[in-house]
Amino acid sequence: MINLISDTVTKPCRDMLAYMMQAEVGDDVFGEDPTVNALQEKVAKMFGKEAGLFCPSGTMTNQIAIKINTNPLDEVICDIDSHIYQSETGGYAFNSGVAVNLIQGNYGKITTNQVANVIKPGHDWQPISKLVVLENTCNKGGGSIYTLDEVVPTSNYCKANGLNIHLDGARIFNALVETNESTIDWGRHFDTISICLSKGLGAPVGSLLLGTKDKIKEARRFRKVMGGGMRQAGYLAAAGIFALENNIPKLKIDNDRAKHIGKILSSLPFVQELKPVQSNIVIFKLQDDIRDHDFIQILKQNGILAVPFGDNTIRFVFHLDITENMVEQLEQILPTLI
Ligand SMILES: *Cc1c(COP(=O)(O)O)cnc(C)c1O
Repeated sequence: MINLISDTVTKPCRDMLAYMMQAEVGDDVFGEDPTVNALQEKVAKMFGKEAGLFCPSGTMTNQIAIKINTNPLDEVICDIDSHIYQSETGGYAFNSGVAVNLIQGNYGKITTNQVANVIKPGHDWQPISKLVVLENTCNKGGGSIYTLDEVVPTSNYCKANGLNIHLDGARIFNALVETNESTIDWGRHFDTISICLSKGLGAPVGSLLLGTKDKIKEARRFRKVMGGGMRQAGYLAAAGIFALENNIPKLKIDNDRAKHIGKILSSLPFVQELKPVQSNIVIFKLQDDIRDHDFIQILKQNGILAVPFGDNTIRFVFHLDITENMVEQLEQILPTLI
């Protein structure tokens, strides 16, 4: 099967497993797992942040970020398609007691002007605008990429207006291999950053939240209350270290394959519309006479796994466990489908 359901479906390779097996571990709830500590320090340093926190999922790092960057009755400003709004079970309301102020961006990307236009003046009948969240790459935006040029004015605006700014960088490395911008430059412009190890980087589990020492100290408390305090988590952290040391450049291959398959799809009759392909995600809308669930079945009969992605669209995600041979098969199968 050619599994394009998500870049989370990757399984650890033999070398990653071997690296995990030799990890030195301890009890991380006491801060005594040397491998977790090494991973946290490594990623914090990469982004020029003071501290990092290893968490079981990107949902948890985002939820903690919302918690430590807001107070109840504040609001979070984000794109309407953002993961924190669409795919985290409404956790912003449940965990942090905050509202969302949704912006219709351009393929998931929002501008400084759009943010400035929705800031509330702070009447006592209004939520207080407190946190801006940007997502890079934007998953539901079709894997679209922000450049630094686009985010720096928003970051400066936030700083000047007393707003915090968080980066949901679940797939930040898929963006950086395209733009060749540095992690340090990105780190400078955000109060907190989430990154995922279990997407294209190929680790089985794990995300990191980055920020100041004080913010991460607070984050540790919320990780604990969410049940995310893990004990000998160093085996999992080792997978993350291995992923960061070996798999970042490979993301470019995923991005290139997505662009290549996107190009093929754009000329096929069953595709009504294709979101611009900038990284490893391909989202296309089917013609109205083909229903997404039927199309998923046709794909499956042809050895391809994918998911419907809302509004009669299909998402393909390219990742580490897709081989060149699978890409060749896709080239041949896709034009024959309907
Ligand atoms: C996958 C993802 C996350 C985190 O998801 P988990 O499955 O909880 O690790 C956060 N943001 C974006 C944009 C994502 O794609």
